Amino acid sequence: MFVSENLSVNENGHLTIGGIDTVSLAERYGTPLYVMDEQLIRKNLRRFHESMQKYYDGKGLVCYASKAFSCLEMCRIVASEGDGLDAVSIGELYTAVKAGFPMEKVGFHGNNKTDEELRFAVENGVGHIIVDNISELHRLEAIAKETGTKPHIMFRIKPGIDAHTHDFVKTGQIDSKFGFALETGEAFEAVKEAVSCENVNLAGLHCHIGSQIFDIAPFEEAARVMLGLIAKIKNELNYEIKELNLGGGFGIKYLNEHDPVPFENYLERVSKVVKSECAELGIAHPFILIEPGRSIAAPAGITLYTVGARKEIPNIRTYVSVDGGMCDNPRYALYKSEYEAIVANKADEERSEKVTIAGKCCESGDLIGENMPLQHAESGDIIAVCATGAYNYSMSSNYNRIPKPAVVFVNEGESRIAVKRETLDDIIRNDM
Ligand SMILES: *Cc1c(COP(=O)(O)O)cnc(C)c1O
Repeated sequence: MFVSENLSVNENGHLTIGGIDTVSLAERYGTPLYVMDEQLIRKNLRRFHESMQKYYDGKGLVCYASKAFSCLEMCRIVASEGDGLDAVSIGELYTAVKAGFPMEKVGFHGNNKTDEELRFAVENGVGHIIVDNISELHRLEAIAKETGTKPHIMFRIKPGIDAHTHDFVKTGQIDSKFGFALETGEAFEAVKEAVSCENVNLAGLHCHIGSQIFDIAPFEEAARVMLGLIAKIKNELNYEIKELNLGGGFGIKYLNEHDPVPFENYLERVSKVVKSECAELGIAHPFILIEPGRSIAAPAGITLYTVGARKEIPNIRTYVSVDGGMCDNPRYALYKSEYEAIVANKADEERSEKVTIAGKCCESGDLIGENMPLQHAESGDIIAVCATGAYNYSMSSNYNRIPKPAVVFVNEGESRIAVKRETLDDIIRNDM
C-alpha cells in the first residue's frame, strides 16, 4: 500500500513514519511540515556503499548529491556514514563546510560556476572540481596559480546517451548545457589541454545521464563510452585517468505501480561492465564515484499538510486544498511529477475517491497532483504526501511570501527539528 518501506499504520489508524505517528508530529510541529526518516537515509546510503564493497572491492566512493536535500544535519549524517558529497553551488559548499564535512570528499559541479565559487572551493580544499567547459578550466587555472594550489579536477562529459526520462532532467545527450561533447571531439581536445596544465591535476572523467532512470542499460552504456575515452586518452596521450564518476539518477518508487530495480543491482551490473571493458581495453580499473541524490533522500521523506477548503465541482473534479503547495513542492507544476497521498488520520480507511490536491498559492497550476486516490478528506484532516524527501525542500520558495516549512527528522522513536520553520520576520529580513 505504501511507496516507502518506512511508512505504516498504527493502532489509531494513523500513518506512521519511522514508527512515529504523523498526526502527532503535525500537532507538535505544525503544518506544512517536512519529515525525514534518519534511519532510512542511512540505510539507503549503506545500500550503495555496501554494494560498492561487494561488487567493486570498495574501490569507489558514494557521493550523496546534496542538491536533492541539503541542510547541516543532512551533511552530518552523510559524513558520519563515511560517504562523500556532491555540491552544485557555493551555498551547498558552504553548508558542507559549516557542517564540518570532510571537504576532500566533496565534488563541486555546475555548468556556470563563478570565480567566487571556484575560489571558495579551492580555498576550502574541495576534493574534486568537476569542470564543465573550457572557459571554466582557464578561470580555474588562473585561480589555482594565484592561490598556489593544484586542484584535482574531473571533466564533465556528455556521453551521448539518451536515457528515458523527462526532458528537463535528461542531461547525457549532445543538446545539453552540461559538459563537453564527446562526438565532436570537444572532450578530447579539452583533455589534451588539461594534461599539459601545470596548475590543475586532471584526475578523472564524469558523466551524469539524467534523473529518475529505471533502466540499468543506459548506465552500462555510459560506463562503456567513458571507458572508451579513458583508453583513447591512455593510448594517444599516454596519460592515465584514474577516476571515473558515473553520476546519479537512480529511479525510485513515487507511485504504487512503479517498480524500480533495487539499488544494489546498479553496481552489480555496472561494475561487471567496467571490469570486462577494462580487461578488453587494457586499462586499469578506475576508482569509481557515484552520485545518488533522489534515491537516498526521496523515499525517506514525507510532507504533512492540513486540509482547508474542499470544493466539489459536479462532473468535473473535487479540489482538496492544503496549507502548502508549489512553494514547498513545485514538482507537479514543473514536471507533472506524481505522488501518492494519504489522509494521515484515516490511513486505515479505503482511498475511496480521486481528487485534485491544490495548494494555497495564487496560481491555478499550484497543484500537488490530479486524479489522486485519497480517503475522504475534510477540513482539518492531515494529508501526507509520500516520497517528498528529495527536490522538495531544496526546490522550495517563498512565492506569495509564504514562510518555508520546518524540517523534522525522526530517528528511533524520537523527533527533532533540523530546519526551523521560517517566521514572518524571516520573510522581510533582507528588505530595506
Ligand atoms: C542531480 C545530479 C545528481 C543526482 O541525481 P539524482 O537523480 O538525484 O540521483 C548527481 N550528479 C549530478 C552531476 C547531478 O547534476
